[in-house]
Amino acid sequence: MLASASAAVLAAVPVSAGSSATAATSVSPATALRRLERGNTRSVNGNFKGKNYSPLASTPAKGQQPFAAILTCGDSRTDPDFIFDMAPGNLFVVRNAGNVVESVGLGSLEFAADALGVSVIAVLGHTECGAVIATEGSLTTGDMPGPHLDSFVERIIPAVEELPTGHSMNDAIAANAVYQARQIQARSSTIADMTASGDLAIVSGVYGLASGRVTWLQT
Ligand SMILES: [Zn+2]
Repeated sequence: MLASASAAVLAAVPVSAGSSATAATSVSPATALRRLERGNTRSVNGNFKGKNYSPLASTPAKGQQPFAAILTCGDSRTDPDFIFDMAPGNLFVVRNAGNVVESVGLGSLEFAADALGVSVIAVLGHTECGAVIATEGSLTTGDMPGPHLDSFVERIIPAVEELPTGHSMNDAIAANAVYQARQIQARSSTIADMTASGDLAIVSGVYGLASGRVTWLQT
């Protein structure tokens, strides 16, 4: 399931100049995804653009027009700005343990899509994800973690409990990223309308901690 699907994913992403008011000056979903891919290649190669992150050196105070929203894990090793070599102002980021879809995060993604005009929403899991490992543990033992910790485990369970016996942890991590991407589409009519019109694409992928590379998945 972790096999690279980059070309197929790109082919499935609609090419649109955008038709909503907020998308008038934004890029197409396909262009947004290519930006992420090129940025990840720079990151893998250590070929960072050498951006100056000082607020005095850029213009974030004048407003923002991010081209992509990222839902990813809170893991300290998964920083989207570094994974995609992006300066402040480019990525709208929502993070929690296990990159799960819940109400506040979903509302935040709606805001990014509807008000800020991002062209792509990427759900980004990662190898060695402790939240998915904990979920697999709960499924094995039948014991749920305590209050609050169970809030992400219970949202990952539907993604992995249908996998065949003997699946790998990477299979579970990929399945969770795909499942959460589908949850965004299924639960937000605002976002679903934008994907239907071609202004927005939802993709999913897994960030490899060892390689630094993002492998895109079929959502
Ligand atoms: Zn994680």
